Amino acid sequence: MLHYTEKIREIAGRLLKQGVVDVFIGYRKGSVPMMNNPLLIRDPGSTDLLYWDSNCALNLCNYLTGRKDRIGIVATGCVSRNIVTHIVENQISRSQLYVVGIPCTGMISHRAVIRAVGGREIIEFEEQGERFLVRGRDFEEIFEKNDFLQSNCAVCRYPNPVLYDEMLGERVPGYEGDDVYRDVEKVEQMSSEDRRGFFSRMISRCIRCYACRDACPLCYCPTCFVDESRPQWVGKSIDPVDTMTFHLLRAFHCAGRCTDCGACERACPMGIPVRQFTKKLNKDVQELFSWEAGLGLEQRPPLDVYRQDDYDGFIR
Ligand code: SF4
Ligand code: SF4
Ligand code: SF4
Repeated sequence: MLHYTEKIREIAGRLLKQGVVDVFIGYRKGSVPMMNNPLLIRDPGSTDLLYWDSNCALNLCNYLTGRKDRIGIVATGCVSRNIVTHIVENQISRSQLYVVGIPCTGMISHRAVIRAVGGREIIEFEEQGERFLVRGRDFEEIFEKNDFLQSNCAVCRYPNPVLYDEMLGERVPGYEGDDVYRDVEKVEQMSSEDRRGFFSRMISRCIRCYACRDACPLCYCPTCFVDESRPQWVGKSIDPVDTMTFHLLRAFHCAGRCTDCGACERACPMGIPVRQFTKKLNKDVQELFSWEAGLGLEQRPPLDVYRQDDYDGFIR
């Protein structure tokens, strides 16, 4: 992936020097291994800070909302789909953007790697093609990247950017299996009692830190419903009813908009698989409206379309 790092630095430097963009948004190597951070650069002399490997899993679209300047941005398949959603929702305009597209081979689950080394501290990570190496004080291990993909990346059908100005490499194949929603189907098949138990256990460790919300590019409301006090829609405690209300409402707010980028899940300090909520709605929206978020600029998302001949009477 080093060649992508070099290409990104070269392109960012060129765009900033030529004044094509005011700011370039990419990633820097994290101070903690496998946790690369978003980075905004304005100075062409600082492009050496930019970095790319399979730990760039936070969604850069989060930094576009409402900006007025001209922006260069690195985008994988899912990030590009979020950019499309942002444009369609009038949060940014296409003409402000210079998108550097990355054909994506998936992000590594840092949690799975930490489990694989028995929780020992990793102090160095190095990607070597389809493998990666992790080192600690008294160990060194080499793993196959494909065995450690984030669960969303393992079934990603759109790894190539859907919108870009420049592409860094050849297109890569997307997932072609018909079991993308296997995890959701398992939950759907449960009785309603078991389902309630499943989701209640899942969120029982939630500390209401809202990192999942903050990491998500869809959550850009000036005041989130959980932060409203007049009216107060939901209590602020970790009472299970309040916590479930937060998760269900947030998921509904993402219906028809979520690209399954995985940033929410990655950001959760408690390791809660919050995509179980949004993925169910992705499946429903696909089945009911033949819709997947962010695939093109031409069509309005299903939930913001009004049609007089809608088959549901409530619309009239
Ligand atoms: S969801 Fe797809 S495009 Fe996004 S990081 Fe994973 S593999 Fe890449
Ligand atoms: S809900 Fe999660 S997976 Fe969906 S777009 Fe937001 S951060 Fe990405
Ligand atoms: S990031 Fe995790 S702990 Fe924090 S609010 Fe979201 S689910 Fe709860």
